[in-house]
Amino acid sequence: MLNATVDLERYRTPVANLDSVDPGDTGPYPTDGDGKRAAQQDLHALVKRMAELQRMFYADGRYALLLVLQALDAGGKDGTIRRALSGLNPQGVRVTSFKRPTELELAHDFLWRVHRAAPRRGKIGVFNRSHYEDVLVVRVDELVPEAVWRARYAHIVAFERLLHDAGTRFLKVYLHIDRAEQAKRLQRRLDDPSRNWKFEANDLRVRGQWDEYREAFAEMFARTGTADAPWLIVPANRKWYRDVVVATAVVEALEALPLAWPEPDVDLSSYAVED
Ligand code: ATP
Ligand code: MG
Repeated sequence: MLNATVDLERYRTPVANLDSVDPGDTGPYPTDGDGKRAAQQDLHALVKRMAELQRMFYADGRYALLLVLQALDAGGKDGTIRRALSGLNPQGVRVTSFKRPTELELAHDFLWRVHRAAPRRGKIGVFNRSHYEDVLVVRVDELVPEAVWRARYAHIVAFERLLHDAGTRFLKVYLHIDRAEQAKRLQRRLDDPSRNWKFEANDLRVRGQWDEYREAFAEMFARTGTADAPWLIVPANRKWYRDVVVATAVVEALEALPLAWPEPDVDLSSYAVED
């Protein structure tokens, strides 16, 4: 039994948007130490449940799950992968981090590298950044003309429908932090020697584009938050709440599938294991 249950509906588009979700929200948990402890216990239970479900999900083999993680710098994508997914069998998971496209990737359509990284059935794919960069950083930094990135909303919706029809279920997560929390985390990257390596001067440039990104995210949610692949806007100022929300979403996505242990294709009663 969990201490509390997160109501994901409030965070899901089209109900949710950047204004309706408070980055500091802690849902059913008190904001104090007791709330944090309760959420950590629940995370532990959810992670166990996730691992159980993953076994049948893999054996069943009819579906793939794709967790797409988007956030501003210091939004917590790495920590979410490390903690909310910590109980999964690594054999069944594939994490892909999308960096600036290479020359080869740029010589193809923007979905080329993404399609190749899509999980096969039975596997859980995690995208640390994704094809959504192509309507975010690409838009804000004006890397291609507006007509080109605008056309991508329709490309993305069609692409995700293709994957859905082939058995892929989407969990598209935006980690929602506010400006003050981002400042705190970037400052920590400057102050803490174990985090210095994460700091990039570019992070401060991107921070300066806060309003442009907000606009780009808002339009992205409106245009690509479909019925089959909605966005989940996750309050992410408090890491312990963020983790329990994402773990709940993964568990619910797996539980929603009509999973079954496959029938053996031979008559098992005709076999016996000798001593
Ligand atoms: P962290 O948040 O921990 O710093 P990160 O995801 O930012 O990790 P980096 O290697 O620092 O990882 O950054 C990847 C960079 O690649 C980001 O600046 C991102 O905007 C950029 N990028 C990803 N996809 C694209 C794309 N399609 N076009 C242009 N830039 C992209
Ligand atoms: Mg970075």
